[in-house]
Amino acid sequence: MRKPNKTEMQALVRELRAIAPKRPLTYGESLQVGRIQAARLRRWANAVEPDINLIWLVKQRLIPVNFVASHKLGEESGLTTDQVSGRLEMFVNEGEPPVRQRFSLLHEWKHALDFDDAPILHAKLGRGNAKVQAGQIEAICNDFAAHVLMPTALVKREWFTWQELSVVANIFNVSVEAIATRLEKLGILGEPKPAPRFYFRRSLLPDVQQDDFALAA
Ligand SMILES: [Zn+2]
Repeated sequence: MRKPNKTEMQALVRELRAIAPKRPLTYGESLQVGRIQAARLRRWANAVEPDINLIWLVKQRLIPVNFVASHKLGEESGLTTDQVSGRLEMFVNEGEPPVRQRFSLLHEWKHALDFDDAPILHAKLGRGNAKVQAGQIEAICNDFAAHVLMPTALVKREWFTWQELSVVANIFNVSVEAIATRLEKLGILGEPKPAPRFYFRRSLLPDVQQDDFALAA
């Protein structure tokens, strides 16, 4: 894939940013916006195969990517800021394995997409608790990266074909941890969800057995 020019990158950023309504979003809405952006991005990149090529993102110069030593990032995976040079830039930890760098790259790209409108978009997150808010913003960026790298339909297809974490991780060019987390979130892998509990007094529902609720859930 060739390097997109500045005009093409500006158009892409504008298109992806326009998906987010310019108002405070709930956590659920933020995830939804990120997933629509992720699908749009894969379409833009003509990513038909599971393993999306991210060279366009590394090479584009609109919001430059810098690969830097781990200690410069305080051992974090990445950073997106305009505080280093005065313009918005992404920094990715070059000490981490390539599969992790791919995830970090997209995580930072989501920060970059939300950067200008972050004070509005994230205003309601955490309900005034800055720590909760920061955690939710990180989770939103992780969710975006996960959906760009591992779209739901393709994950299901490959998982049900191979049923082997390392094989499927390889197909998507992600870490085993990333594909396992994705499968767990889809409810495909991991402990089966516990049967729904009774939250109300049994006497209110004299004729209903718990099994009926398990079937209906
Ligand atoms: Zn982050």
